[in-house]
Formats: sequence, C-alpha cells, structure tokens
Amino acid sequence: MIHDCIIVGGGIAGLQAAIQLGRYSEHKVLVIDSGEGRSNLCRSYHNILGFPDGISGEELRKRGVQHAKAYGISFIHDRISRAHKKEGVFTLTGDSGAMYESRTLLLATGLTDRHPELPGLKNTLGISVYVCPDCDGYEIKNKKTIIMGSGTAGANMARILSSRTPEMVYINHEQTEVPSEILQKLKDKKIEYINEPIEKVQEQEDGMISAVILNSGRVVEAERGFIAFGNNPVHSELAEQLGAEIADNKHVVADARSRMTSVENLWIAGDLGIHSEQAAVAMGDGVLSGIWINKALHKMKK
Ligand SMILES: Cc1cc2nc3c(=O)[nH]c(=O)nc-3n(C[C@H](O)[C@H](O)[C@H](O)COP(=O)(O)OP(=O)(O)OC[C@H]3O[C@@H](n4cnc5c(N)ncnc54)[C@H](O)[C@@H]3O)c2cc1C
Repeated sequence: MIHDCIIVGGGIAGLQAAIQLGRYSEHKVLVIDSGEGRSNLCRSYHNILGFPDGISGEELRKRGVQHAKAYGISFIHDRISRAHKKEGVFTLTGDSGAMYESRTLLLATGLTDRHPELPGLKNTLGISVYVCPDCDGYEIKNKKTIIMGSGTAGANMARILSSRTPEMVYINHEQTEVPSEILQKLKDKKIEYINEPIEKVQEQEDGMISAVILNSGRVVEAERGFIAFGNNPVHSELAEQLGAEIADNKHVVADARSRMTSVENLWIAGDLGIHSEQAAVAMGDGVLSGIWINKALHKMKK
C-alpha cells in the first residue's frame, strides 16, 4: 500500500503533524517511530503553554498518540535506515526488514544529546538536570549548580548560565582541552573548574540531584545541574540519502513557511531543522508541515 504521508519520528514534531494531518480526515498517514527521542528523556517540560507545573515528555507523547489515533492515524514501531525516491514515491526500509511507501514524507527524527551513561543521571533529566539554557536557565536561579560536560562546550554552557546563580561548578568529565582564555573567563565569573571524570550522579528523591561523585571519591554538592558534552548527533541521515540540502551543522535546510526541503514532497519538522530546539517550536513545525503536506496531497489528487 502506498501511504499519502509517512512521518518518520513520533516525537513532539511528528505527533503534532500527525494530529494536524489526521484532522483533514482524508489521508492515509503512518507514523514510524523507534522510541528513542529527546522527548522520551525529558521528565518535565517547564515552558509549555498550559502546563505551568510541567509535563513529562512521556505523558505528552502518550496523549499525542491517543489524539492522533482518534483521527485514524496508524503507528508502527520500527527504525528506518534507508530511504530513496523514485517516480514520485518514497520507499523506506526499516531495521525490521519491512518496506514502506508514500507519496509525501515528513522526517521528524530530531537529534540526540550526547552524554556518557553516568549512573543516576537519566532519572534527573528535565527534573533537576537540564540541557537547554533557554528552556531551563530559570530553574537554577540562585541554586548551587553543576555543569557536567566536555571541553569548551561545557565551559560555554557555564558562561551562558553564570548570571543565573553565584554558585556554579564546571566539571570537565571528559577532560577535553579548554583554551586558557576560556579558563580565564570562567575564573573571572567565579565559576569553579574541576578537570576530573564523574563516577555517578547522586539523586535525593524524585529526580532531584543532590551531588556529583567524582572518580577520586570527592563529593561535589549540587541543587541543580546542566549537561553540555557537545557534538550532538543530528539524525539527518535519511534526508541526506534523499539528496536534501544539509547545513554545515548537519541540520536540514527547509523553507521557513512550509518546512519543505530542497527535495519535492519531502518535509522536516522539529529539532532536525535549523532553529532553537524547543518543544513548542517542534509543535509549530509539525502544524506547518501538516498544513503544507495537505495542500500538496490535494494537488496530487486533483
Ligand atoms: C533532558 C531534556 C530536557 C528538555 N527540556 C526542554 C524544555 O524544558 N522545554 C523545551 O521546549 N524543550 C526541552 N527539550 C528539548 C525538546 O525535548 C525537543 O526540542 C523536542 O523533543 C523536539 O521534538 P522532535 O519531535 O524534533 O524530536 P524528538 O522528541 O527527539 O523525537 C524524535 C523521534 O524520532 C525518532 N527517530 C529518530 N530517528 C528515527 C528513525 N531513523 N526511524 C524511526 N524513528 C526515528 C526517535 O526515536 C524519536 O522518537 C529538552 C530535551 C531534553 C533531552
């Protein structure tokens, strides 16, 4: 069966697009998702309209799937590894061995926050340890905050956030070199610098960080944390295989209005695009791409 649209990636952007497309009540839409997104990791979003007390990515996704299914959208758990387009039809191959075909394709595959598998870290993500200074800089106001990171990426995160709190420590876990002029800037801002690997993150309860334990046994107390290890992989491989224009930073170039890429009938939404990597932006992208995919399908079906 050839679908009208396949959405690869059932995170925030993909689900919002599925809801938008479902409400036209006339397209065969399939969402294929591998279940490993940033929205699977974030235990609480704090800056989304309507959720002043926060909402977890898991809950948002669960509600999104229910919402989209109510409009007849289909879902499959698979990871797409190959994509090509021939005579106007996109063909995708999943790790399961299954093949899927569609007239339009939306990639909403996002990116991954690179970080080491530190015991205790996962449970704190989005609750008391964050990744995005624009989303959660507010949460560390006047709190003892640890930046866990690597080299210049971590040092820059510490500098960006330093106006939020007078008590900040940067732990360069991977001990990657930090240029001396940046180290001096950390010193000027009274940010303590520790060049040592972390053994584990100590959690108090309910995802609240209480300390970071270093390999040396030293305990560094904390009320909040950020991670910044840099080199986050952007999942633009499928867009690349299809010949779409990719920016130097590996995000996919798309039209600002429609979110269509340089390949006809190939759209992107969410963190895969070049923008501020936030949940509300991903939702906006999902709506925009859904609207323009509907227009394209109408033209095809005329
Ligand atoms: C810890 C943490 C805290 C955050 N806090 C905030 C916050 O407070 N506020 C805020 O606005 N934003 C926050 N963010 C960012 C926010 O989560 C992202 O901007 C948002 O998830 C982007 O949505 P997306 O749909 O583009 O990607 P994702 O939600 O990452 O979804 C992408 C989906 O695509 C799937 N996928 C990828 N490749 C394939 C493939 N080849 N085949 C099939 N499926 C595939 C993945 O499994 C995943 O389910 C946070 C992120 C993290 C990690």
